[in-house]
Amino acid sequence: MILEAQRRAVVSYGVAMVRTGLTTGTSGNLSCCDQHRGRIAISPSGVPYDVLRPQDVVVVDLDGNVVDGLLKPSSEIGFHLTLYRHRSDVGGIVHTHSTYATTLACLQREIPPVHYLVGFAGAKVPVAPYATFGTAALARNVQQTLGAHYSAALLANHGLVAVGTDLPKAFGTAETIEFVARLYCQSLAIGDPVVLDDDEMKRVIAKFETYGKQDDRPQR
Ligand code: 13P
Ligand code: ZN
Repeated sequence: MILEAQRRAVVSYGVAMVRTGLTTGTSGNLSCCDQHRGRIAISPSGVPYDVLRPQDVVVVDLDGNVVDGLLKPSSEIGFHLTLYRHRSDVGGIVHTHSTYATTLACLQREIPPVHYLVGFAGAKVPVAPYATFGTAALARNVQQTLGAHYSAALLANHGLVAVGTDLPKAFGTAETIEFVARLYCQSLAIGDPVVLDDDEMKRVIAKFETYGKQDDRPQR
């Protein structure tokens, strides 16, 4: 089976999306990309994650032509393709309808840096303008909103998209931004959230470059 490791990753992170409450039913989709070979493994459209098998994951090229698989690829293949084409740093994409991120998306309200973990996305989490799901217009809006640097965006009246150098990182960002979205909603319910300033977010984003990398630890 071609792209077997990537197809298995799509299955296991799809199941993880449901297990962690990031999505329900057949909502959302995910993919990972082998940028060298120009091949993408993407979840099929409308298939529940708990019955998904590696061979059900569709392999496409960067133009969206199906290379392997019998099912239809995700209806959001447009924004997956355009993000991989515009961002050579992106190797994985996770799209969810997680509750708190989608609540803010329904308000078309971006997430300011109310918690330093917003830095997983950038200095804030921007909102991509609304367009019907599965359209070229939505793909364009998502790509323009993420630009060259953001790793997550809310999709107005729809949900969340997160990108990363690989699928585990994209999934981690989706989880973290859902956590921050929850904190922001809860803070707004109680009072006026205090927002971190630009200099602090620059420091945080710089620290994330090395956070969790154990390779440069002193030898014991
Ligand atoms: P697919 O099942 O086609 O991936 O669609 C789910 C979705 O979230 C559309 O935005
Ligand atoms: Zn969706």
